[in-house]
Amino acid sequence: MLVKYHVIVSLSGGVIIYLLTQSFLKAALFSSAGIFIDVDHFFDYIRNWGWKIVSLRDVMKTFYTQELKKIYIILHSYELFIVFGLLLWYLKVDWGWVVFLSLTIHLIMDHIYFFTHFRSNSPWFYFLSYRVSKGFKTEKFVKGKSRDF
Ligand SMILES: [Zn+2]
Repeated sequence: MLVKYHVIVSLSGGVIIYLLTQSFLKAALFSSAGIFIDVDHFFDYIRNWGWKIVSLRDVMKTFYTQELKKIYIILHSYELFIVFGLLLWYLKVDWGWVVFLSLTIHLIMDHIYFFTHFRSNSPWFYFLSYRVSKGFKTEKFVKGKSRDF
């Protein structure tokens, strides 16, 4: 998913959250969570090529063009979302549902994008257990290249 779509959805969602809750904190958390979850792409990039000054577009491009040998994107994992959601529910964190909702929307958007743009890819890609079972090796789950890059 192109970052600009996450920015648009996250900021728009933040406005809606503000209108519904009158809470600037919840709106800011919603907007931030939906955008900054992609920070794990930087981890994958740095792990492959070390520290470099590159654009966010270049980092995302490596993800979608099979240039990475391994893809971890640890934060993009349904299993972690379930654990995170249960933890927030257990702790009864007031703003937790906002962050959880934003992250879930982000992951679903990524999932739809990844599956529709790389039709030969596995629908299980966003499960951490699936990526672990494939040794995080890119060639095991990224079969094609996105036309967006
Ligand atoms: Zn993402």
